[in-house]
Amino acid sequence: MTNINIKKILSTYDKNNITIATVCSHSSLQIFNGARREGFKTLGISVGEIKKFYDAFPLGKPNEFFIVEKYKDIIKYSDELKEKNVIIIPHGSFVEYLGARNFLKLDLPTFGNRNVLLWESDRNKERKWLESAGLTMPQEIKDPRQIDKPVIVKYHGAKGGKGFFIAKTYEEFSKRVEKDKLYSIQEFVMGTRYYLHYFYSPIQSNAYKLSKGSLQLLSMDRRDETTIDEVQRLGSIAELEELGIHPTFVVTGNIPIVMRESLLPKVFRMGEAVVEKSLELFGGVIGSFCLETVVTEELEFKVFEISARIVAGTNPYVSGSPYSELIQPGLSTGRRIAQEIKYATKHDVLDKILT
Ligand code: AMP
Repeated sequence: MTNINIKKILSTYDKNNITIATVCSHSSLQIFNGARREGFKTLGISVGEIKKFYDAFPLGKPNEFFIVEKYKDIIKYSDELKEKNVIIIPHGSFVEYLGARNFLKLDLPTFGNRNVLLWESDRNKERKWLESAGLTMPQEIKDPRQIDKPVIVKYHGAKGGKGFFIAKTYEEFSKRVEKDKLYSIQEFVMGTRYYLHYFYSPIQSNAYKLSKGSLQLLSMDRRDETTIDEVQRLGSIAELEELGIHPTFVVTGNIPIVMRESLLPKVFRMGEAVVEKSLELFGGVIGSFCLETVVTEELEFKVFEISARIVAGTNPYVSGSPYSELIQPGLSTGRRIAQEIKYATKHDVLDKILT
């Protein structure tokens, strides 16, 4: 749990002069652009050096850079950052490189509910949360000897799909598994992948209404993963595996996508259930979150993961998505986050969306 006293820190802040900050990576161009469009100052925390590529994107460049030697040093500079009235927008790289434990200790107002980390980073707790919300997850195989259909083996804490592999039998599993690492084995779900980008506001009720606040669907994407997504250019997976060439699941980019409209009610029911359960378990998954799903040929969703913050899959939509356009033209997730902070500042409820 995070024990940061947000109200106390906020009482020292100049609310008319808030700076939106994030680490220069992942979805930072979109976050800076969205903050800028809502009238905020922006600060880019950059590790090692100023990243030159921002010069090529003036509307996604932060007003100011803050250089640290290594990610873990961000903790050391929290007083300096507080003087700049900084609100941190965490993203996947931010949390991963800083480390979950350090992130929980970071003595700065952070968008979203940091307590979600305890439920999200432990695969057993994540499953408990999603299944108790009524979502269907891929079956888990506890004993590798019981592998009797294609499975995907995932190493704990491995981000971006690194090291994951497919096995169809116990023998294949044994040959490939790295025994010194913690892993879990899931049924490999056949279907098409959709990564759904939601936004939950506990303080505004002008969207899909929940018991407290409301829910939006801002966009969706499909991840582009090397080599699995293009391996068929060389031959079938079975053929290649015989040659000792195994597909990998390393994320290299994101592809925009829309879903058949008749599935949208299910998408909202899933989002609703996840939020309602999160309110019960740990005070709510606040702001952006993403359900990573496979839709089967029976048109059922199987959810294999949740990400409880802005995901890089929102990056194709800096100027809006086919869904967010129906909320407000030009609305990106980065901009929606800035709007939430603006609304909360105006109504003096910042402590309801920051931890
Ligand atoms: P994850 O780290 O759980 O997001 O998984 C990395 C990638 O592996 C995903 O983006 C999917 O392409 C694939 N994947 C994960 N779990 C499954 C599953 N149960 N069935 C099929 N593909 C999966």
